[in-house]
Amino acid sequence: MNLTSYVAGKPVKSSKLLEVKSPYDNRIVGTVTLAGAEETEEAIVTALKGGVKLTRYDRFSILDKARQLLVERKELFAKTISNESGLAIREAVYETGRAHDVLMFAAMECLKDDGQIFSCDISPQGKARKIFTTREPLSLAVCITPFNHPLNQVAHKLAPALATGTPVILKPSEKTPLTAILLTELLYEAGLPHYMLSTLLGPTKEIAEPLVKDPRVDIVSFTGSVPVGKHIAASVGYKKVILELGGNDPLIVMEDADMEKAVLLAAEGSFRNSGQRCTAVKRILVHEKIKEEFTRRLVEKAKEYTCGDPADPKTKVGTVIDEPAAIYLETVVKKAVEQGAKVLLGGSRKGALLEPTVIKDVPRNADMVVHESFGPLAPILTFKDIEDAIALSNSTAYGLSSGIVTNNMEYALRFIRELKVGTVNINEVPGYRIESSPFGGIKDSGLGIKEGVIEAMKCFSYVKTFSLPW
Ligand code: NAP
Repeated sequence: MNLTSYVAGKPVKSSKLLEVKSPYDNRIVGTVTLAGAEETEEAIVTALKGGVKLTRYDRFSILDKARQLLVERKELFAKTISNESGLAIREAVYETGRAHDVLMFAAMECLKDDGQIFSCDISPQGKARKIFTTREPLSLAVCITPFNHPLNQVAHKLAPALATGTPVILKPSEKTPLTAILLTELLYEAGLPHYMLSTLLGPTKEIAEPLVKDPRVDIVSFTGSVPVGKHIAASVGYKKVILELGGNDPLIVMEDADMEKAVLLAAEGSFRNSGQRCTAVKRILVHEKIKEEFTRRLVEKAKEYTCGDPADPKTKVGTVIDEPAAIYLETVVKKAVEQGAKVLLGGSRKGALLEPTVIKDVPRNADMVVHESFGPLAPILTFKDIEDAIALSNSTAYGLSSGIVTNNMEYALRFIRELKVGTVNINEVPGYRIESSPFGGIKDSGLGIKEGVIEAMKCFSYVKTFSLPW
């Protein structure tokens, strides 16, 4: 698959090629023609020059057509996701379904009025006027996406921006550029005016960094790691910025938990998408009264998560993104073992393929639970009561999401009130959401500004207020 960067619908012509390799067997699965500083400037100028202005119905029609095209091409998209990321094909198929929902919800939002009306004669200071609000698109958005959901992360930036009529320059991860370019081509084909989208791959110093700093850009919407997010925060200047960063989400299993549910949520949360979700379960916190039974049953459950060739429909867990990432994960497990942890299942690595790994007695200060471990690890820690669970959960620098397994309403309400996170899911994994619900973290996980189609559309637009005599 030979693809290219695009400046407003125009394929970039250059001799510089990025080779994209399968993390599973290192074969070349595609190439991308790279852009540089000149194309970055051209993309900005073309977007700002603009073109045909889209009505709400136009935007609905384009996004809905894109949704239909994605359904028609879901095998191609799933195969491309799996090829370039090493994710199991069943995960890649699931991801195309999620991206479908993103396009569908964004299309639906185009048809809704987004204004408010305030009558002014409602206080002694009031008078006979009405105040109205309307939302206007931004001049230009820059969207930067990570590797872990090669399609859905990109859809979550493009669909809400385009639904508001805001032009976008997209800089996808260089580890998974093929899916992002396929989506770009699909949007052009669905009727998107070319000035509204450029997709650039190339050196950070010539594309991502200048775009972040450029004063002509109204918003930078970034999803990725904490260090890069903080670097962007320091250099972005006077513009809107959305930062959706790393997570270290707990699954907290209380002593009254439905054990079967707890075990299933722990396994699904830790191993789905090769553990590479910002909201994957990265720490399993279990009440000490039930730790023996929970641990034994999780080990049994984890055996069902077979890892291997991502293209095999029976494979449940594919590779992580590359061999260095797998080696890093192996290292943090080894360090935890030196501190007293015990590996009960998995732990072996072949290239970028790391077996789903269950580890017990993980000390609270182990690197693998203090920092984000982006892979199929299930570290079990114990706590003695709800105070201890809340303190342990809140003890890291992250604050993205959380899952609680309990049938006790008092516990549930207390966790909702006291966890310092963006989301609390009772009897669900931390990652549970629908694509239009508000999503995003606090502390090092983000600035508390939510995404999800509806909230993201607010970010990609300005509110204009006007008033009339009434
Ligand atoms: P990353 O290394 O931070 O890269 C993310 C994007 O930033 C890539 O497109 C990357 O480009 C680009 N980038 C790198 N250096 C940059 C710079 N100096 N200025 C501007 N952009 C720059 O993250 P990743 O490893 O791809 O993704 C994994 C991380 O994303 C994890 O921490 C995960 O938790 C987080 N994540 C968060 C959410 C959320 O919603 N909170 C969702 C998904 C993932 P290159 O590829 O060209 O280097």
